[in-house]
Amino acid sequence: MAKIPITVARGDGIGPEIMDATLRILEAAGAELEIEEIEIGEQAYLKGYSAGIAPEAWESLRRTKVFLKAPITTPQGGGFKSLNVTVRKTLGLYANVRPCTAYAPFVETKHPGMDVVIIRENEEDLYAGIEHRQTDQVYQCLKLITRPGTEKIVRYAFEYARMNGRKKVTCFTKDNIMKMTDGLFHKVFEEVAAEYPGIEAEHWIVDIGAAKLADTPEAFDVVVLPNLYGDILSDVAAQIAGSVGLAGSANIGEHGAMFEAIHGSAPRRAGQDLANPSGLLLGAVMMLVHIGQSDVATRVHNAWLRTIEDGIHTYDIYDPGVSKEKVGTRAFADAVIARLGQEPQHLKPVRYTAEGRFTPPPLKPQPRAKKETIGVDVFVHDPETTPDGLAARLQALEGDGLHLAMITNRGVKVWPEGLPETFCTDHWRCRFKADGPISHTAIVGLLGRLAGAGIDFIKTEHLCTFDGEEAFSKGQGE
Ligand code: NAD
Repeated sequence: MAKIPITVARGDGIGPEIMDATLRILEAAGAELEIEEIEIGEQAYLKGYSAGIAPEAWESLRRTKVFLKAPITTPQGGGFKSLNVTVRKTLGLYANVRPCTAYAPFVETKHPGMDVVIIRENEEDLYAGIEHRQTDQVYQCLKLITRPGTEKIVRYAFEYARMNGRKKVTCFTKDNIMKMTDGLFHKVFEEVAAEYPGIEAEHWIVDIGAAKLADTPEAFDVVVLPNLYGDILSDVAAQIAGSVGLAGSANIGEHGAMFEAIHGSAPRRAGQDLANPSGLLLGAVMMLVHIGQSDVATRVHNAWLRTIEDGIHTYDIYDPGVSKEKVGTRAFADAVIARLGQEPQHLKPVRYTAEGRFTPPPLKPQPRAKKETIGVDVFVHDPETTPDGLAARLQALEGDGLHLAMITNRGVKVWPEGLPETFCTDHWRCRFKADGPISHTAIVGLLGRLAGAGIDFIKTEHLCTFDGEEAFSKGQGE
């Protein structure tokens, strides 16, 4: 088998020890790897690289496209950017995959039957990082959900289920409230699900779905979520499986992939041969599958399960009632190596297929819709005004077919016919509508009149129709 080049970073704290243990196990199992090492983390931050990674390290990542990463320490204080977010965004790693498995009765858990894989969209949603302070009182973060981004993550979830013999994919959204953004995610989920008739598909509103996941995780198999819900629920799922220290994760993109443990660098445990290397090892198992070395992945994973089952445990999962031997990092790795070729006898053995990754099909072509602009929402900063007072000033500035249709405050209609009980901030959304399509010039004209009248507008959103369908939400109470 040809050696596959990978990039390895030993990281900070316990990172070097658990990486060493992991690489020893991989080598003993016969993984064919050509390792390039890069430096990331604390030292790189302190050298002045704000994202904790030196420019030359990117060359290795772009060459190998496979990154096995130990945890790093983010220095205290401001000005440092998250290395993980930087790598994910720069390499376009759109899918975060985190298997959350219980290993009862060998590792304590409240949910012995739990075996859930969380697949989180990694690039979009509120994490697009587009935030503004708009007025004295109001801050905004834009939530972006795109059709191609959603199609990629949902298809990834179904392909993951197909390749791993899983039976069901569940989608969580909040589309009863966010009908357009989460609504799109749900809609694309239904469209892609229809292409996989052999896999059950279900959707839950995220609040009750999260409650059910925490209460009866056995009812779930693969779960696919937009970024924020996925961020939160992947931690919940790992925690309730009882195995935060045992979980690995993969970040997958079309041009690269990154594999790691979900825990951090545990600085207080560093250099003492205490840390559990399991999270990083299980991340490395996902890497082996990804690079087409599924047989080696199967051998490593089963030897690891057998080690856990034999009660050879590091301090973090050691339980005198269950464990047989408390070991350090190196001895744990030795125990796994000694069991290569063996399978677990109580826990379910794993069997990875040769098909480790899939080449996504081209995105579904989307015919361009006929778009018409029929109005504009103008957001105004005004700490003094009342709804009626603002409406009177704005009505005097109507023209070019645009008339004031509504004013809302924090999404609630306050004009016409607002209620005096509605709490108002200094941030007003003023909706101007036309009876038919209008040009950009009409909007610019309106803004010019507003500026001339001293109205402090801070943002506009065009009101459009796509193929005749209104593409904006109504105000509450409209
Ligand atoms: P942590 O995950 O490092 O530690 C939390 C607790 O779990 C500690 O008690 C620690 O001793 C224990 N622990 C973690 N991994 C263990 C292992 N493999 N074996 C045994 N015990 C283990 O979280 P923290 O203390 O909040 O963060 C420490 C540093 O790690 C911070 O600088 C943080 O920014 C960084 N961090 C990095 C990553 C990453 O690189 N992906 C992720 C999370 C945190």
